[in-house]
Amino acid sequence: MKLTFLGGVSEVGPLSMVMQYRGTTLIFDHGMLPANPPEYPMRPPMVDFAMLSHSHLDHCGMIPTLVRSYDVRILATHPTIEVSELLLYDSLKIADIEGYPKFFDKGDVKRTKAAFDIVGYNSKRDIGGMEIEIHSAGHIPGSSMFELRGEDTTLFTGDINTGNTRLQWGAHPVKCDNLIIESTYGGEDHPDRVETEGEFLDTVEETIDNGGQVIVPVFAVGRTQEILMLLNDRDFDVWFDGMGRTVNRIYMNHGGFVRSPKALRDAVENANEVRSHDMRKKAMDAEVIVSTSGMIEGGPVLNYIQNKRKDENCSILLTGYQVPGTSGDMLLERGMIQDRGATIPVECKVKRFDFSAHAGHTELVEFARGCDPENIVLMHGDARELVAEDLSEFQVHVPKEGEVLEL
Ligand SMILES: [Zn+2]
Ligand SMILES: [Zn+2]
Repeated sequence: MKLTFLGGVSEVGPLSMVMQYRGTTLIFDHGMLPANPPEYPMRPPMVDFAMLSHSHLDHCGMIPTLVRSYDVRILATHPTIEVSELLLYDSLKIADIEGYPKFFDKGDVKRTKAAFDIVGYNSKRDIGGMEIEIHSAGHIPGSSMFELRGEDTTLFTGDINTGNTRLQWGAHPVKCDNLIIESTYGGEDHPDRVETEGEFLDTVEETIDNGGQVIVPVFAVGRTQEILMLLNDRDFDVWFDGMGRTVNRIYMNHGGFVRSPKALRDAVENANEVRSHDMRKKAMDAEVIVSTSGMIEGGPVLNYIQNKRKDENCSILLTGYQVPGTSGDMLLERGMIQDRGATIPVECKVKRFDFSAHAGHTELVEFARGCDPENIVLMHGDARELVAEDLSEFQVHVPKEGEVLEL
């Protein structure tokens, strides 16, 4: 089999990998990195089938260009299809506002939806002389690993998490000959999850006890739901806003892809959804406000922070990695946010918590050992050598963008 890496392999960028096997061409993800300006993968050759691992834009963002150019079927789960559609339309809107180039239009997104072949976990498909089986990747609801059984067995992980979260059970290793695995957190381990959860809830409680309010900037996909479920452990007055509202509904409609559909439903029902302008005003008085965007780059969270920014009793609790240069990063490092070109000081307390949905370094190494492959291809990380060092008993490959690898 011949693998060509079109993007997102030596960095956490727009992932895209082409596989040629006995005359059939498959593509695994075809993403776009929503940076300023956005980053794109290289142009793919003609492909017959696409495998979409999950709905984050760095994996799905350029999928409509495949449908625009080729007659292609795309394998993905229900939540991946519906959340991708939401994010793809949103990325077109952002491209319009920011003046970024557009490589597809709304019609292509519609045609993409019609080109999906809906799969579930443990579904099987016969494609190009291989049997393909779909496994949960534990990263976000619907996220998939693809196992391909031909002459050899190959596993493409997409993004994975092996630890259990409120929303998802962790992914399990799959015995294979060739393992193509992400390495986002190469060289870095996460703090203990249960301890982080306790610290987060205690900080929320302390802030409220001191007469303050808590603003929690969240990503719409996965993090909104994870944080609502966590907050539901205690009796807070929680309001939520932003794109996470639509994602809540998609995940509740496809409960089979979350760890506990009931726990998710309870968390959403016990919190208040902001549905109107008036409710947004009311939410200003809430004990806890959960809203997009996760890095404070737009979204309703900006208004909430603007409103509370002079209140020293308030806390802003960041719940994910903050890309350098984003408003969230500025807040953490310098106590300022950016809003429409202006730099604004914020007097609230600021703290960041690691609620990552990716496997940490040790978990990646353990997962790879559990798959017991002959070849390991490391992708989607900028510290792959550190992972390779710990897997020296295997044949480890660290290809670059544009490189062709024969396995
Ligand atoms: Zn992801
Ligand atoms: Zn990714």
